[in-house]
Amino acid sequence: MLNELELVHSDIMGCTKCELHKSRTRAVPGEGPRDARIMFVGEGPGQNEDEQGRPFVGAAGKFLTELLESIGLKRTDVFITNIVKCRPPNNRAPRKSEIEACNPYLQSQIRLINPRIVCALGTPAITTLMGDEYSASRHHGKPSTKGEVTILPMYHPAAALYDASLKETILHDFRLLKRLLENMETLNPGTPKSSEPSGRKQTLEKWV
Ligand code: URA
Ligand code: SF4
Repeated sequence: MLNELELVHSDIMGCTKCELHKSRTRAVPGEGPRDARIMFVGEGPGQNEDEQGRPFVGAAGKFLTELLESIGLKRTDVFITNIVKCRPPNNRAPRKSEIEACNPYLQSQIRLINPRIVCALGTPAITTLMGDEYSASRHHGKPSTKGEVTILPMYHPAAALYDASLKETILHDFRLLKRLLENMETLNPGTPKSSEPSGRKQTLEKWV
């Protein structure tokens, strides 16, 4: 029996709701624990991701893993996905209509995983999650809480990878992410997420 998240992912694998399905090799639903406390949302699969069916497996993914390790997290601790699940041809930016067609999958993932913090990587993910008036350059590192979830806008690791000053900025924003998590645990010690059976409580050690 598939759980609800697996059902969403199997819908994505067969999805034809926008024209990106025509040129994809494989759709990339995302990966990570079903009860992850942190979720990362990037722009869309690139060539490596399209070939392997996994998110952030190229150079940007390697850098994302390093950024996570810099604050004591492992890649397998977090859920990683994108605003569109199929690769735009030649890595062009996803179109508004494609992002809109795909958005219900992202919203279902957020609802089912129920993370404490969603990190929006790069302006396309930031505008999708926060509104058109937001951008990485103006809002990176400024968390905003929407209902139960805190959204933390950041630069995209692919943008920061080859730019020393953006690299400093993104490292700084990851340290902020760590502090945010610590504060949530202090304010709410040991409280299981509402979606979690109480037996599966996670300890502070796992996250900091
Ligand atoms: N890999 C992804 O999965 N998403 C991006 O946005 C960039 C690289
Ligand atoms: Fe469906 Fe999203 Fe792929 Fe478009 S990008 S075909 S909406 S899964």
